[in-house]
Amino acid sequence: MFTFTSSGSLLRLLIVVLVCFELGLAAATTNAAAAAASPVQNDTTGSVTGFNTLGSLYDGNKRFRNTAGKRSVVKRLVEEAPSFMFLGCTDNRLTPASIFQAPVGSIITQNNIGNQYSKKDVSTDAAITYAIEDLGVQHIIVLGHYGCKGVSRAITGSKKRSSISEWIAPIANFYKRERRAEVVKFRDSRMPRRGLPKGITDPPSNDEEGYRAFVEENVKQTVKALREDSILAKAYQLGAKTNAKEMQYEVYVHGFVFDETTGTVADLKVSFGPPGKPIPSVPFTAAAAAKNLHTRKASFNKGKILSKPKYIHD
Ligand SMILES: [Zn+2]
Repeated sequence: MFTFTSSGSLLRLLIVVLVCFELGLAAATTNAAAAAASPVQNDTTGSVTGFNTLGSLYDGNKRFRNTAGKRSVVKRLVEEAPSFMFLGCTDNRLTPASIFQAPVGSIITQNNIGNQYSKKDVSTDAAITYAIEDLGVQHIIVLGHYGCKGVSRAITGSKKRSSISEWIAPIANFYKRERRAEVVKFRDSRMPRRGLPKGITDPPSNDEEGYRAFVEENVKQTVKALREDSILAKAYQLGAKTNAKEMQYEVYVHGFVFDETTGTVADLKVSFGPPGKPIPSVPFTAAAAAKNLHTRKASFNKGKILSKPKYIHD
């Protein structure tokens, strides 16, 4: 189990940054050429065209092994405890390691269609518990993306029963009851009406305001589920109630959304963390219409306890 202090975190950050520079890999670089030449980073500038055989994988790994001459440095990087966990979507366009130009070993990811979380999903719940307890991550980032096909499918609905329709059912149900103005307008515009008895059943286009708004709300819904019913919820509620330090993980959860057309990542302003501790500043711009859930009741940041936390009595 790791313990983190701000100075310890700073030291770790400094070490990672120094090591990144040693490899010529400034983690935040936007220099495409540097990224392409990097031995241990994903090439975000390349096309998937041509990278479609097992041979391409083999060649890529060979380049990785050959160019990562400073193996001991790479080894050190890999052995560094990751600070970030991403709970993202299965979509191939959503690869946090590329989007954030993250060095090898610096992040862990758990993906599912529509970046959902439920305590009933043992795989995701176990991954989050592992990330917190065994790997000592400090930030869990729920990362949605505009144009999400999982969300689109939940919107269009499907009469055909499949594992996908079963998986996205919570998103489909959430869509039916979401009350954000843009989503309501969008939903109404797709309803059956005279001359269009089935309503609009085509997938929405990626730039439709209501669709984008619902992608954002879906991310917020996942953050909300983590805040209300997860290992963190349990720990933070107990921590707030008993002030038991040992029950408080220093882990912050954030909701971000990625725009694949611009590469921009926006903050949805739904971060939460341990009771009474300030949320570290989030440098990403807030999504245009993001509502700030921090002002709502039951914010852990204010050290409040949710009403009737059922799992305290488990
Ligand atoms: Zn998606």
